[in-house]
Amino acid sequence: MENTLRKIDIKNDDRVEILNVPFVKTPKDQFIDTLLNHIKRKEKKFVITANPEIVMQTFKDPSFKQIVKQSSYVTPDGIGIVIASKMLNKPIPERITGFETMMGLLLHAEKKDHSVYFIGAKDTTMKKAVNNVHARFPGLRVAGFRDGYFSSDESSKICDEIKQLQPDMVFVGLGSPRQEKWIYENFKHFKKGIFMGVGGSFDVLSGEVKRAPRLWRKLNLEWMYRLITQPWRFKRMLELPKFLFKVFKEKAEAGTR
Ligand code: UDP
Repeated sequence: MENTLRKIDIKNDDRVEILNVPFVKTPKDQFIDTLLNHIKRKEKKFVITANPEIVMQTFKDPSFKQIVKQSSYVTPDGIGIVIASKMLNKPIPERITGFETMMGLLLHAEKKDHSVYFIGAKDTTMKKAVNNVHARFPGLRVAGFRDGYFSSDESSKICDEIKQLQPDMVFVGLGSPRQEKWIYENFKHFKKGIFMGVGGSFDVLSGEVKRAPRLWRKLNLEWMYRLITQPWRFKRMLELPKFLFKVFKEKAEAGTR
């Protein structure tokens, strides 16, 4: 298995800029291989899985824009990003979601004895998620976990614990941009590991929230499923047309240059 990992990292050629955000444009499996190579070399990487809402946030919050710029990888999490890449004639082959990347990494972690640390969601949700992870990946080494509702004092304790345990992967599910800010602020203290924001993935792992059925995902309708099952997200989703309009404007302006 080890030998089948591609030796290359993601180069600038493997990225496409959408509204100044450099997205990874490799297929998902290749991206997971890249992360596994970093783990093998005991390197430290910060991954942001970004949807249109996150891209729009870079325009509203300059400090968040800096965080995105300084991350190691930004992946296309959201069909809106894939559509935008096509509009700009720089097609991205597929979405790379936080949930699927995390599940892919956990599968390898179990086989290769990599350790993982989870932060996020409510305490009971996180405990259910960890139980389900143990059931699904019995050999997986969970170095530690905790819920995502903590004070700044507790935050430093979490950081110290991760510093000491040195897990190979740390998944942070606090919602965006909170999770990216947490990783960014603490990143300098860590020696190695993949640090990735995973949004509501622990809610899904716990079984409390259902992901869209496979067919809906295949038809690129996961967003609609979420809208139906979590209607309070409606306001957030209004960012999508604004995002697409901005991309359209960029394309039109590029055409007249
Ligand atoms: N959350 C958390 N701490 C907070 C606020 C939120 O751990 O202070 C968790 C929340 O319980 C949920 C996740 O963050 O599990 C956010 O999920 P959402 O689906 O909103 O994420 P996103 O759409 O940003 O990926």
